[in-house]
Amino acid sequence: MQKEQKRNISVTGDISFSNIEVTQPKEYAAGMPAIKVALEHVSKESGLFRSIKTLSRMNQKEGFDCPGCAWPDPVKPSKLGEYCENGVKAIAEETTFERVDRDFFKKYSVEEISNWTDYEIGKSGRITEPFILKPGSVHYEPISWEEAFTAVADHLKSLNDPNEAVFYTSGRSSNEAAFLYGLFARAFGTNNMPDCSNMCHESSGVALSETLGIGKGSVVLEDFEEADVVMVIGQNPGTNHPRMLSALQKCKENGGKIITVNPLSESGLNRFKNPQQISGIMGKGTALTDIFLQVKINQDVPLLKLIMKRLAQRDNKDNKVFDHDFIASKTQGFGELLAYLERYEELELLQLCGVASEKIDEAVEVLAKKSKIIICWAMGLTQHKNGVENIKECVNLLLLKGSIGKKGAGTCPVRGHSNVQGDRSVGIVHHVSEPFNQALKKEFNFDPPTAEGLDTVHAIQAMHSKKAKVFVALGGNFVSAASDTEYTAEALQRCELTVSVSTKLNRTHLTAGKTSLILPTLGRTEQDGGRFVTVENSMGKVHQSKGKLKPASEHLKSEPEIVARIANAYFGNDTTIDWERYSTDYDAVREKITAVLTGFEDYSKRSKGAGFYLPNNARQGDFSKLPGGRAQFSICGLPAHSLEQDEFLLMTVRSHDQFNTTIYGLDDRYRGIYGERRVVFMNGDDMAQHGLEPLQIVNLVSQYNEVVRRAENFKVIPYNIPSQNLCAYFPETNVLVPIDLYADKSQTPVSKSIVVKVEKP
Ligand code: SF4
Repeated sequence: MQKEQKRNISVTGDISFSNIEVTQPKEYAAGMPAIKVALEHVSKESGLFRSIKTLSRMNQKEGFDCPGCAWPDPVKPSKLGEYCENGVKAIAEETTFERVDRDFFKKYSVEEISNWTDYEIGKSGRITEPFILKPGSVHYEPISWEEAFTAVADHLKSLNDPNEAVFYTSGRSSNEAAFLYGLFARAFGTNNMPDCSNMCHESSGVALSETLGIGKGSVVLEDFEEADVVMVIGQNPGTNHPRMLSALQKCKENGGKIITVNPLSESGLNRFKNPQQISGIMGKGTALTDIFLQVKINQDVPLLKLIMKRLAQRDNKDNKVFDHDFIASKTQGFGELLAYLERYEELELLQLCGVASEKIDEAVEVLAKKSKIIICWAMGLTQHKNGVENIKECVNLLLLKGSIGKKGAGTCPVRGHSNVQGDRSVGIVHHVSEPFNQALKKEFNFDPPTAEGLDTVHAIQAMHSKKAKVFVALGGNFVSAASDTEYTAEALQRCELTVSVSTKLNRTHLTAGKTSLILPTLGRTEQDGGRFVTVENSMGKVHQSKGKLKPASEHLKSEPEIVARIANAYFGNDTTIDWERYSTDYDAVREKITAVLTGFEDYSKRSKGAGFYLPNNARQGDFSKLPGGRAQFSICGLPAHSLEQDEFLLMTVRSHDQFNTTIYGLDDRYRGIYGERRVVFMNGDDMAQHGLEPLQIVNLVSQYNEVVRRAENFKVIPYNIPSQNLCAYFPETNVLVPIDLYADKSQTPVSKSIVVKVEKP
């Protein structure tokens, strides 16, 4: 038996500082600076004219879908360009001229590369052909596709149990690739299908399924134009979903109000200078937020309870604040909720949320009179121990106002990855669905596994304890996206085999298993033999995406083909599934999706043009799937955060030059940070109290269950953030999040409320 080769891999990379410049945070988002920065990125990476040509096809009907977030495209995309600054950065990354080829890997060992920052690793470029890292080696070597597929198949065949394999999916994979991947995992015999939504909106899926009968949002894009009020809670659209600002602008122009709930005053929610309008280029742009409720980290529930208590007090007077007809005909648990709200003293709730009483009254004044209310949210609500209840409390408010199942109103969990919702819709889920299993059995004549699979956190624990030995990732940068970075890296390195289907180099390729394979795939912008794939946006619309650019290398294969060829290599002739056909015939794949899933009728035809919406009962106000056929009010407790004097609650966030774990640049322009990522934002009074100066260097330390985790070398930035709250970027601070600290019911890692201490080195 080959002695286990321990490669000397750095999990954090270079943590030294670069040249930081700090200015005042920006008062607005987008405008001319967005155009300037976007053009700088594309000219540097992929050539100005080539990029402008490519961008002209982005988010257009016959074009390709942006590989960034999942914000929907309008029915009539702008001819001036239907994309944002960060969409352009995503394209610059994918269409870069930089290449990771055999000379690159001959020159650089994985140990050497691991000492680079995530930014430097990502800027190495597109991977040109399949590579293998053999046991005992520190250099990736070229390998043929056939040898690579055989190597994967052999490792899978060597397992004692299919549940010793883990099949991870990142939200960039198309519906066709994801469906084939899920089909393969089940035909192989496991439901171990963790996916990136486990780490982001899983809490939304659980809360919405239990209260409204569907794990997705109920609004469509056009609802923003009709809404009386849009509440944006725990979300920073200016950076993470920038085209949402156009929708908020339309809401404002139609007389709507915007209420923002966030520990930070984010530029993108203050003012928007729409770069497609003169007023956005030359003028002041549009003021967005009308009422800013600067809540303490994860104290949204006390704030929402206060709002509902005060609305109830008004309703008691005239019975006109709540939508009693809707409540009586469509909901369950109204009385219990009101009684439960009575149990809380206003003072306690005010102290917990940290928002001024008069500000709350301003919001209550607006909400009392309006009924077309949309609540949008993102990780600021989901990545907490009580993440599921955070969302249920939002649903409580909407149900009280009858703001579900009608135009201009509803739930809007904004998805951060372009097809994360689609992957789930076509079967990427670790939970077992009997009807889906029955449909697969009927269509493909095999018995799908019935044992519950592993989600992200439990897959990492299984790899760490060597219960799982093979890890396959369809896209993504697992080690950097997951919590507890050191532990997750160890887990991957203990695998017999790790496989990454990727476009670009990332840290997961370095924290590799004994044997590691990189299988390079096509990007969204690139031709795929004239074929198109499909994706589903944040509002449940499925549409096509078709690249036209010449692929970065002649050796690349599409994700569907890679999955089908691995399956072919594994099953050979011993299968009832025509993998060979599905490797290149996507219409055939879509026909199978239609056969086993509802809502995908006439799939290929309907996905052309503007695409089609999948069924959504909540959008129709139909709660027949739920107990009593009614939407459910929920009783939610208060979040438990008791901090010592020298303790802080840390929330991990993205900078403006970042998409998930992809680092586009070192600036966070809206927050006034340039040239540095190792910063921690802290309340000025807290700094004084702890004897800290601006830019002073500190370490961040968390301790859970006697285990100490450290993130070293951060410069302190005085910032407008509530006391005893801190904010810093991930993946640099994911190392502080314990693997076993996750949300109840959804198991989403608690990345937004980590208890830490600030240490002076
Ligand atoms: S808003 Fe999201 S989907 Fe749209 S262009 Fe920007 S990053 Fe891409």
